[in-house]
Amino acid sequence: MKFSNILTSVIRSFLGDYRVNEGDTRRGVDWIGSIPFMVLHIACLAVIWVGWSWFAVLFALIFYLVRMFSITAFYHRYFSHRSFKTHRFFQCLFAIWGCSAVQRGPLWWAAIHRHHHIYSDTEHDTHSPRIHGFLWSHIGWISARENYETRVKYVKDWIKFPELVFINRYAQVVPIVEAVIIFIVGALLGIHMPELNTDGPQLLIWGFFISTVVCSHATFSINSFDHMYGTRRYNTPDTSRNNFIATLFTLGEGWHNNHHHYPITARAGFYWWEIDITWYLLVILSWFRIVRELRPLPDHIRKKNRIPVEE
Ligand SMILES: [Zn+2]
Ligand SMILES: [Zn+2]
Repeated sequence: MKFSNILTSVIRSFLGDYRVNEGDTRRGVDWIGSIPFMVLHIACLAVIWVGWSWFAVLFALIFYLVRMFSITAFYHRYFSHRSFKTHRFFQCLFAIWGCSAVQRGPLWWAAIHRHHHIYSDTEHDTHSPRIHGFLWSHIGWISARENYETRVKYVKDWIKFPELVFINRYAQVVPIVEAVIIFIVGALLGIHMPELNTDGPQLLIWGFFISTVVCSHATFSINSFDHMYGTRRYNTPDTSRNNFIATLFTLGEGWHNNHHHYPITARAGFYWWEIDITWYLLVILSWFRIVRELRPLPDHIRKKNRIPVEE
């Protein structure tokens, strides 16, 4: 491979360029494409030099929650399962908001996830711990060549929106801009509000890199841990489980066995005691007509196909 080609591939890996096509049939790990993901992790080590402040940690936590919500509510419950409706303007906004979590574009995410629901825990599943082992189900799959591009077959309903195809293709531009803004905000606060004890590099490492890496692993834990550890209420043909700890980190997505039982509802917690922050926030957004027609959970579905509890 010529140096100029390698350089082009590296630049492309940072800028995104996730085309919508039939998918790459080449197998194996795409090392160059995985560079940004590796950089995200390695950059976190810079915490040794930048230190910490309450402001930077709080910023990282809030930004984590804001972006986790964009994944659970929009990438997952909207773009993957169409579990509610919204205006085209908000659809566009939700797509950009989702890009901020650095989990590639909304159509790529939805295509991978719809494929997971069709082939859950079979040999075709992209990320099954039962078939491929824990490591592959957690992070291996995202580095694979065949999972890099957006498979049009699974998102035919979305490609009629040119703005979504555009946002999906250049999804990585959003995090690059966001990292620059966070750095500038940190630098300005360092000059004008020294009592916060932060600066550009510190806020960048905490607010962008650490926050993003934790958000990524929390999301991926649904594919890995949540198909291994937890309880099963419904007799689904896969290994999905309900896991309270995963729920706390993912604003409700830990009720994954519930979700595999009936994926099209906007809820993941099926009872009042099953905390589902994403659902609560979606209900609040519906009061303001930002989202509408949240798909409910019919009572007969809640009772159907349950695994009998042993006495
Ligand atoms: Zn699953
Ligand atoms: Zn799903």
